[in-house]
Amino acid sequence: MHDTIFGKIIRREIPADIVYEDDLTLAFKDINPQAPTHILVIPKKPIRCLSEATTADRDLLGHLLFTVKTVAEQAGLKNGYRVVINNGADGGQTVDHIHLHILGDRQMRWPPG
Ligand code: 5GP
Repeated sequence: MHDTIFGKIIRREIPADIVYEDDLTLAFKDINPQAPTHILVIPKKPIRCLSEATTADRDLLGHLLFTVKTVAEQAGLKNGYRVVINNGADGGQTVDHIHLHILGDRQMRWPPG
């Protein structure tokens, strides 16, 4: 099993502003927010990235997406929000533990940078 900064957050070895937790997932505020609300949703299982998920992870991936919905509701994002998964180098992924960004409380633009 590889480890990352997110593994340390899961184990409470470094602090994070945790907003949601269940048996499979954790959600916490991004340390460098790109929107007034910027929350990361991660699985406790350290999958490196979406492209390394296996068929054994299918239910977990669905659970992660449903957790995004739950956390966004809890955050009061009634007017919409963006969900982002950066995958691998070209995707701009910087932490090798799969995570879903929830960005809200501002108008998003398209295309993204
Ligand atoms: P990525 O670029 O891999 O899609 O997103 C990684 C995100 O993790 C970035 O938005 C970055 O600000 C956030 N991040 C990196 N290190 C930490 C940390 O130690 N704590 C928190 N809360 N967020 C972090």
